[in-house]
This record gives sequence, C-alpha cells and structure tokens, in this order.
Amino acid sequence: MLFAATSPATTDSSSAFSGVTNFFDSSYFSAFVKLMILFAVALYAAMVFWTWKDARRRIDDPVIVGVCVATAVCFPFVGVLIYLILRPPEYLADVHERELEIRAMERRLGADSTCPYCRNPAEASFLSCPHCGTKLKQACRRCKAPLDPTWRLCPYCETVATTLPQQPERPRRGAGQRTTTEA
Ligand SMILES: [Zn+2]
Ligand SMILES: [Zn+2]
Repeated sequence: MLFAATSPATTDSSSAFSGVTNFFDSSYFSAFVKLMILFAVALYAAMVFWTWKDARRRIDDPVIVGVCVATAVCFPFVGVLIYLILRPPEYLADVHERELEIRAMERRLGADSTCPYCRNPAEASFLSCPHCGTKLKQACRRCKAPLDPTWRLCPYCETVATTLPQQPERPRRGAGQRTTTEA
C-alpha cells in the first residue's frame, strides 16, 4: 500500500482494488519482478556451477560429470535436486585415502596373513598352512592357542611355551631293576 500511495496513478483512492491494480501496473512492481528474475537467474547459474564443482570432486568419469551438469542446465533447480539425490556419497579424495589406509593395513598384517612358503592366505590363528601343510605356529600345551615362535609364554593361560619338541619319557632302569629284584 505504501507503493500504491506513492505511485502517480493513484487518483481514485475510493476503490481498494484499484490501489492493488495500480501497484501491479506501477514501475515499482516491474522493477521488483526484474530484480526477482535477476536473482533467479543468478541462483540458477550458481547452482549449475556448484553442480559442476561438486560432481568433479565426486565422479571420476568426465562424461558422467557432463551429464550431471547438463541435467542442472536443462532442468533449472529441479536438476540440481535430482543430482543431490543421485550423487555419490563420498569425495574421490576420501575414497582414495581409504584405499591407501586399507592397503597399508594389509601390508602391516602381511606377515600373518600369508604363508611364508607358498604365499597363500593364512589367518593368524592357523597352526598349519591349509595349502602346503607347513607348520606355521605351535599350539599352547594347555589351552591350545596358537603361539608366535618368539613368545616365551602363552598370553592366554600363562603356560611357559616349549619351542623344543618334548623328549619321549624313557622307562627308568633303576626302578625297573628294583622291582625285578624285589619280585
Ligand atoms: Zn603354505
Ligand atoms: Zn595357553
């Protein structure tokens, strides 16, 4: 109403509708519409640019990046919304970093995860290689847990590890002789 009051066309102030009509016909309204159109165009251009920037960081294939940008260009505002729904959830840099971390982790565990003789995968809990039959670890005497050859005692039951094979028990000659002489 402020605009209507100040506009030059407000000669008949008795009708409420004429004020509204005059407002829509006024130069203020057309300037307002132009401003809104300019704002919408700027927003549309920014959205297309953002889509291109974001797609490049998430998608490796330039053709798919082009399709995303084309969608944003052809369907103003809705295209960006579609892109937001369908875009990959991760940045390429994050995916690459994670792959490097996994590879480093595999390298750290490499000593235990493969058989040192046949290079087939062997888990840390394996006593022997299931592929070539090589003895990989000694089982604990008491709890049968797989022990590393460098360990001095079992970390699970604290039994002292025996890396050397146990000597077979010989029958004591003295005791045997005593029993025969006594009999
Ligand atoms: Zn093996
Ligand atoms: Zn044990």
